[in-house]
Amino acid sequence: MSDERYDVVVVGGGPGGSSAATFLCRGGLKVALFERDAFPRFHVGESLMPAAMLLLEQMGVRREIEARGFQIKYGAMFFDEEQGLERTFYFLPGQAWPNYSYEVPRAEFDTVLLEHARRSGAAVFQPASVESADFDHDGVTVRVSGAGMPPVVRARMLVDASGRSSFIATRLGERRRRPNLGKVSLFAHFRGADRLSGKDEGNIRIYVVRDGWFWWIPLANDLTSVGAVMHARTVRAWTGAADDLYASMIARCAPIAAGLAQAERVGAIHREANFAYVNTPVVGDRFVAVGDAITFVDPIFSGGVYIALRTGQLAAQAILRVFADGRFEARRFHAYQRQAERGVAPLFKFIHKYYEPVFFDLFMHPRRLFGMYEAVLNVLSGGSFIRFGVRTRLSLAVLFVIARISTWLSRRAGRPVESRLEW
Ligand SMILES: Cc1cc2nc3c(=O)[nH]c(=O)nc-3n(C[C@H](O)[C@H](O)[C@H](O)COP(=O)(O)OP(=O)(O)OC[C@H]3O[C@@H](n4cnc5c(N)ncnc54)[C@H](O)[C@@H]3O)c2cc1C
Repeated sequence: MSDERYDVVVVGGGPGGSSAATFLCRGGLKVALFERDAFPRFHVGESLMPAAMLLLEQMGVRREIEARGFQIKYGAMFFDEEQGLERTFYFLPGQAWPNYSYEVPRAEFDTVLLEHARRSGAAVFQPASVESADFDHDGVTVRVSGAGMPPVVRARMLVDASGRSSFIATRLGERRRRPNLGKVSLFAHFRGADRLSGKDEGNIRIYVVRDGWFWWIPLANDLTSVGAVMHARTVRAWTGAADDLYASMIARCAPIAAGLAQAERVGAIHREANFAYVNTPVVGDRFVAVGDAITFVDPIFSGGVYIALRTGQLAAQAILRVFADGRFEARRFHAYQRQAERGVAPLFKFIHKYYEPVFFDLFMHPRRLFGMYEAVLNVLSGGSFIRFGVRTRLSLAVLFVIARISTWLSRRAGRPVESRLEW
């Protein structure tokens, strides 16, 4: 047994792990963070919600992020080819968060955050993979692999920030896929793709097509990230190579194909499959999960990084409270779990609704009535974790009632109403 003793071990150095480690160190705890990969490393998830800026500020790293020259993002554009619909949402000023955010290559963004956690006092071990964690009455014994790493580390608590690897759920619980949401995404970076100018240059663009949807994320230095998210049935119907499916999807979306006509692909085509799942447990005696280690549904509204940063912060607050009195049972973390669930619930409900044709139509024709427009922008900005007052809830409730009535009317008229999420 080594002498390496820490208050908290963090598994994973993505945004969730860096956030948790930074806030824990600022609270005076001794933290060891283990990250399996050497950074910088490629990662999906490049478009940030505006509320993420508030978190970066609270972590003390906002100024550094702002100085990096990342592509600034003031809004989100949605296009539906079939119905010929197009809508741009600009983030509203006067909120608790700024009216902009950034489009970030995650290799660089995650490195900045992890270095910040290190500077805040975390002992960062990398590349170092946590292989096992044995919990007992006094703490947790963690076994690590990686050249030159302490093979065994002892701590009083563990934060699972391992993302889709779901360290705790795969060892102590269950990682439940949502089979009907078995989507596949293929994505790559391009140089020389079409760019808008002025305030719209950095808008994320979402193109809904028959077989799924595309993201178009303009990054700095003339790079653009283009991802195709395909419904399960599109993937099932494809018998060729994955790269050819990506090319075929691009050919099926005229604006994407036109926007890439003069562009050159930089690097490989990446793939993520079956990314919708729910993990259990989220908390336990001497552990909590944050970010993607809790759950992930769908990236349509670019919420993943923000959720990881915010749950990292909330988890750190809960941990600092238990260190104050030395009782580490699971029930001490139930309030944290509820906070996390309440924060993601409006976003997840929106994601599900978005795929219903009737709601999608309402979404693309937002009315400035009963505060509905502002409520939609609150959700798109990540406000549900921060300022989600009664007025916003009521406005969303009105929107959902209107959607229900419209669905009923559409069904009676024989128009399609079934969700496109589960195709
Ligand atoms: C197709 C797709 C598109 C997306 N687009 C967006 C987007 O535009 N905007 C957005 O905000 N989000 C997006 N997301 C979601 C986003 O990628 C994640 O929500 C976000 O990265 C979660 O952060 P995290 O810190 O929880 O996990 P991660 O960022 O995945 O970090 C986890 C880290 O843990 C490390 N790790 C894992 N196991 C171990 C171990 N045993 N030991 C040590 N280290 C370990 C991994 O190497 C990794 O670096 C998208 C997701 C998908 C699937």
